[in-house]
Parts: sequence; structure tokens; C-alpha cells
Amino acid sequence: MPRGVVPRQPARTGRQDKVRVGRTLLSAKSVQKQFAGAKNARVGTGALARPGRGKASAAAPEGRPEPAPKPAPAATSEVKGYNPVAPERVAEILKRLDQMYPHATCALTHRSAWELLVATILSAQSTDVNVNRVTPELFRKYPTVEAFAALTPEQLEPDVRSTGFFRNKSKSVVGAAKKIVSDFGGEVPDDMGKLLTLPGVARKTANVVLGTWFKKADGVVVDTHVQRISRRLELTTQTDPQKIEQDLMRVIPRDKWILFAHQIIWHGRKLCTARKPKCADCPLENLCHAADKTWSTVEMHKGAKG
Ligand code: SF4
Repeated sequence: MPRGVVPRQPARTGRQDKVRVGRTLLSAKSVQKQFAGAKNARVGTGALARPGRGKASAAAPEGRPEPAPKPAPAATSEVKGYNPVAPERVAEILKRLDQMYPHATCALTHRSAWELLVATILSAQSTDVNVNRVTPELFRKYPTVEAFAALTPEQLEPDVRSTGFFRNKSKSVVGAAKKIVSDFGGEVPDDMGKLLTLPGVARKTANVVLGTWFKKADGVVVDTHVQRISRRLELTTQTDPQKIEQDLMRVIPRDKWILFAHQIIWHGRKLCTARKPKCADCPLENLCHAADKTWSTVEMHKGAKG
């Protein structure tokens, strides 16, 4: 795309400056049209009303200079009454996520709680695709939790090497297997407190297993996507995963905790990527004031960064 046609950073006013012709303008219009209903409803978007613009121009007496439009508010704190976690704004975000990803679920292939636990441990600092390449052979070789418990971490290392951080992951998987066999009768416990006693298992992994396998909403999975996008959408201002989870548990209804995390993870993979999010294609665009958006029809907020 030629330099100068699409600004890399959206204008602070939230308007798409310097775009006069071509596909980008059409794209902008189509997005605005698509969400015209929502914008009209102004569900906590903080969308710029630009008072006086348009009507004032039409009514301006001939020969007189057109009055300059009022400057837009510059930051969240200056937008009176804007509450990023207002229930109606959160509900609108959830509604659109439901429309975008109605059947979102965990992308790690598994046939049991144990396989999901292992896959989740292996997915740290790796991709689900990468883990899914490794696990079929791994579970063919070691089909039960007891088979893993009989290993030493060193024996497992070659099998999980390609997922990265393989020494720590081997220790965690073998350690978890031993504890599940010795303390929980060979069954993965469906209890947050017990899961957290397993080596290599923190709240994220425990939430994945509890939510995806046991369908228990004890918390919200906070992985790198949830962390980034929750901040962009101003559902939290925290950076620590545990504090982010606490914020999300406060603003998201409990019956949505499991699905919300899956939907956000899919959104992070498809559109809201860490670098160059595809904001022009994003159905959440006019609700999102992220400072690192690549395209915007609404104002951006300094504190809303991924
Ligand atoms: S508008 Fe951009 S930054 Fe905001 S949620 Fe969508 S893709 Fe992410």
C-alpha cells in the first residue's frame, strides 16, 4: 500500500485523515455502516460526537467563514461519563464476541483431563499448533498418567523438546503425574486448590483444565492474548495476570468466564494481534479506544495499551 495513503498511526481525533479515494475509504465507510446501529446507540463508546459539525456547515450564512469544529476530547479522563467497564459496554463487547466466535473452544487437542493438562503445560511459550504436533505421538508412547509417573524428567525431554523450555516442562509433567498418582488416585482433580498443588500448574493452566474439561468456572484464563486484549479494551489497567483475572472476574458475568477467554484467545490470533492489529476489520472497533490501534473511528486512550 503506498506510503501516505493509510496513516500508520490513526489521527488523535479518531478520524481517518489523508484518505480520499480508493479501497481504504470504502473499507472505512463499510465498517462505519456495519456498526452504525451500535454507534447510534453510543453504548459507552466515548465516540466523538463532533458537535456542530455538518449541521453548522449547512447552516453557515453565505460569505461568512465556516466555524471551526470544536476540538475533540483527548483522553479517557477527559471524556465525561465514560466508564470502560460499564455493564452495557461490557455486554455489547460480549454480544459481538458471541457473534464473531460463537463456538470458540480450546485449540489444544486432548481426549482427557490429563492430556489437556499436559498439553497446557507444554503450550507455555509455544503455539497450540506446535503442541498439537507433539502430543499425538507423546500420548501414543505414554498412554496413561501412570506411564508418565514412571518416567524421569530426562527420559521425557526428547519427546517435548520442540515445544521449547523442555527441561522445565519435562519436570512439570513428570512431577504432576507422580503427584496425581500418589495423592489423587491417578485422576486429575477438578478443584482449583488441588490443581495448584501440582508442579508447573498455576492459575492459567488450572483454569484451562477446569473450564474446558470440567466445565467449571472458577476463574478466567489469562494468557498473553487475554492479557493484551483486556487492556486494549480497557477491561483492566493491570499488567499482572492474577490482578487482570480479578478485574475480569469482577466485570464479566460468571456464566461467560469460560467462553470469554476462548473468544478473546481466538480474537488475538485472528485480528487483535500483538503487532499491527487488524482494526479496520474488527467488529469491536468502535468500542475500542486502544492507544496502539492501527485504524480508528473513535478517539484513542493513552492508557489503553496491549
Ligand atoms: S479495534 Fe484493533 S485493537 Fe481494538 S480489539 Fe479490534 S483489533 Fe484489537
